[in-house]
Amino acid sequence: MPHPHAARLDRLRQLMAAVGLDAMVVASLVNVRYLTGVASSNAALLVEHDGALLATDGRYLVQAAAQAPWLRQLEARDCLAALAAVAAGAGIVRLGFEAHHISVEEHGRLQAAAPSAHLLPAGHPVEELRTVKDPDEIELVRQACQISDYALAALLPQVRVGDTERATAVRLERLMIDAGAEDLAFATIVAAGPNSAVPHHTPTGRPIERGDLLKIDFGARVGGYHADLTRTFVVGGPPADWQQEIHGMVRQAQRTGRQALAPGAGLAHVDALARQVIVAAGQGPGFGHGLGHGVGLEIHEAPMMGPAATGTLEAGSPVTVEPGVYLPGRGGVRIEDTLVVRDGPAEPLTTSSRELLVLG
Ligand code: ZN
Ligand code: ZN
Repeated sequence: MPHPHAARLDRLRQLMAAVGLDAMVVASLVNVRYLTGVASSNAALLVEHDGALLATDGRYLVQAAAQAPWLRQLEARDCLAALAAVAAGAGIVRLGFEAHHISVEEHGRLQAAAPSAHLLPAGHPVEELRTVKDPDEIELVRQACQISDYALAALLPQVRVGDTERATAVRLERLMIDAGAEDLAFATIVAAGPNSAVPHHTPTGRPIERGDLLKIDFGARVGGYHADLTRTFVVGGPPADWQQEIHGMVRQAQRTGRQALAPGAGLAHVDALARQVIVAAGQGPGFGHGLGHGVGLEIHEAPMMGPAATGTLEAGSPVTVEPGVYLPGRGGVRIEDTLVVRDGPAEPLTTSSRELLVLG
């Protein structure tokens, strides 16, 4: 069994043993991919103490055999039920499942297929394992971030007053794909003028106007791993005082957050340190989201940094730091980077300039 999936499965088995599970069915497709390397739109994985069995349907069998030749496979349409039947046939009693990834209906089918088994919510053990990345995973996040930085640098000289948000977003997306991204990390946000005050604005046909703040939040995906990068610009001339003021405030909050990233730092504490910069300037109510999130096989994953978060950062976690200030009807600023928590200063993976650049 090749590195690194054998090691990941072994770590999962340790977590399963600690809570007394005989086996576990993994329903999350992202978690299946993490544990096996197999990317499928219909799959599930049975993890036992001495093996693992992948269920997927006929469309994916050849690909799965190529991606994970060491893995036993079972052809099935209802993958969860098929694996539950195998587990029951093997005499497994305490069978864990991912309560946050299966529907009530799927749970019923699981129980019907394994009537003798005790189905037990297993918590989030795979998500916990995914929080700290191995070097190969970090390398993929790094490549996604490099493509994102490159694409933004190529876009900026092309931004023009009169171009629409949507056309600008499509141009940026094209640049990422041409530079080697396998896909977008998520739907690109290009938000101009008052739209920049909407944290997750969807690009529209609104033309970019002189004097607009222009907020761009986007990322590339490489090998299943995501990048997340936000910059805010001003278009067509020097910034107004209020634009400079909120940009400076967000930039300082973002620097504070980046510098607070360290193994053992409380997730809520890092959020609070950065948030305090914005609160002290009287703009706290306009920062309505958390400071940042983990990035990996999903664009938003553990650890989540926010006021109500519990837990601490660990070395080897790629996370974002993305404070924002949003003034409804006028405009908003967000600055976001993806960094890796390290012993010592965090390692920045996105490196585009954080200054308030004038475009167009
Ligand atoms: Zn983002
Ligand atoms: Zn983000």
